[in-house]
Amino acid sequence: MKPGEKLISILNRIDGRGYKAYLDLKGSYDFNSFTLFIDHVQRDPFASPSLLRIEIPDHSFPPDLYQNKTRKIALEDYISRSFAEGIKRKVKGRKGSGKSGILRIDQGGQEVIERSCVNINPHILEIRFELGLPARGRRIMGKEAQRLLTQVLPDIVSSSCFYENLHAEEIARHVQCYENAEHIRDQLIREELVAFIATGSILPRESGISPKPLPRAVAFKSPDTLTVSLETADGNLVQGMGIPEGVTLIVGGGYHGKSTLLQAIELGVYNHIPGDGRELVITREDAVKIRAEDGRRIEKVDVSSFIHQPPGIKDTSNFSTENASGSTSQAANIIEALEAGSKLLLFDEDTSATNFMIRDERMQRLVNKEKEPITPFIDRVGELYHEHGVSTVLVMGGSGDYFQEANTVIMMDNYQPRDVTLASRKIAQEMPINRKAEAPGKFHYQKRYPHPESIQPYKGRKLKLDSRGISTLMIGTSMIDLSWVEQLVESSQTRAIGYALYQLTRYNTGPQPSLTVKNVLDKLDEEINRKGLDFLAPPGRKHPHNLARPRRYEIVAALNRLRSCKMNM
Ligand code: ADP
Ligand code: MG
Repeated sequence: MKPGEKLISILNRIDGRGYKAYLDLKGSYDFNSFTLFIDHVQRDPFASPSLLRIEIPDHSFPPDLYQNKTRKIALEDYISRSFAEGIKRKVKGRKGSGKSGILRIDQGGQEVIERSCVNINPHILEIRFELGLPARGRRIMGKEAQRLLTQVLPDIVSSSCFYENLHAEEIARHVQCYENAEHIRDQLIREELVAFIATGSILPRESGISPKPLPRAVAFKSPDTLTVSLETADGNLVQGMGIPEGVTLIVGGGYHGKSTLLQAIELGVYNHIPGDGRELVITREDAVKIRAEDGRRIEKVDVSSFIHQPPGIKDTSNFSTENASGSTSQAANIIEALEAGSKLLLFDEDTSATNFMIRDERMQRLVNKEKEPITPFIDRVGELYHEHGVSTVLVMGGSGDYFQEANTVIMMDNYQPRDVTLASRKIAQEMPINRKAEAPGKFHYQKRYPHPESIQPYKGRKLKLDSRGISTLMIGTSMIDLSWVEQLVESSQTRAIGYALYQLTRYNTGPQPSLTVKNVLDKLDEEINRKGLDFLAPPGRKHPHNLARPRRYEIVAALNRLRSCKMNM
């Protein structure tokens, strides 16, 4: 049989019929160099496009491009982008109604993240994508479908999925870039650094809605005293600013680039594509941005180290609310990050509650400690580092009270960092402040045990796990707002978080859950590592084509904001 012949004969037969006849397409089709699988057929031209997959056996990608997990993620990412490019080149205009003719693959943005749309092993390269099967009104456009499936698609596949037709050097660079970033991240712990920003990096973004690099930006240059040399995977040395463990302040005048630096550090938990400008801005993988988030829900969090006996509330070691204040939400965000395993907290004064961050000498004199339930973060930041090994990077342009607590002080001056640690120490000595440390007792928090049955992913009898953009997740009858979970970068991660919450319902069963939040996250990470991302997909959503791997911190952030979620202590 000629390649695609079976497909052509079905399409000839159903041409002009009602849309449902497309269901006959379900199945697999031999195209000589690849096999096409039509897994899911949309019900009408306006529904989400149909799900397709191709498998290329005996592909010729050299094994050293995917032999370890790191390279595999980078290569798969490259192929997804290459396929997307192929679509852009070969698909000119669409014909038909609704989603007719839409061809797309779940390609990533500036970050390179493990994703489900491309899978490669020595035997098979698999690519998953969507196609809106074409219709005029609701009538099948058989000829147009034929053109898309038997001409356009093979063209795309040939130009974007066969190693011999691709730029070997560009692929090598993409993989190398990712591997270098991973290699540097691996060195951070040994070097006792929490982040590294290579000299020459471009940190600012084009705009609030475009994550592309800002054209004509001032390139980052490390100050001599903070410069470290780290090794890339290909054996070169790169120089850049190393932020040591401990308490680091980023100070400087308004508009001098403080928040831009912190944002680059926040996203340094991910690796970036070549040309992004942040390829070598690398942060430890456990960094969590902490911000105020008034209005969020809190389920039994022990915030007593920060909030003690507020009016009307006796016990804050077991604190729940449907509508948290700025300071309480920030306290809960810290405890939840630590509970999930983070040892690196990132703060920006722009998004922090002032009364949570500082309480100065004059205020201490006017408002008695007995009348202030909040223990400000300044009274915990040193203790968190010295007794719990938790480092903090904090943007603070508006108060010098933190000088005493800081191990490193970086001043942003016209977008360039300067090491002002010594100067700030001198000032702290010359202008001592008499504010009293006010923390009542040691920092501590109680462990929580999630109740999996409270996740409730069903709406009636139907499984409901949907994401809307990056920041909204629908689970059963609940809606989770992730707008202020700032290290989430893709809607495909959000979708994967929904699926992850579904998987969590299998853990911890029984009336007395025995796994802590951290146990549950460890178990989930282990399962994803062992079985791959596909494992997250619930029944009926086999071969998921649009998942990107979320970090445990974002998964638990969703759990913590799910209004039905119950915890034990
Ligand atoms: P701050 O937090 O110190 O007030 P921001 O980080 O918000 O300052 O930066 C202020 C503005 O300067 C932003 O519009 C940002 O895009 C721009 N900016 C930051 N860093 C650079 C840079 N290296 N080159 C050019 N523009 C920059
Ligand atoms: Mg700022």
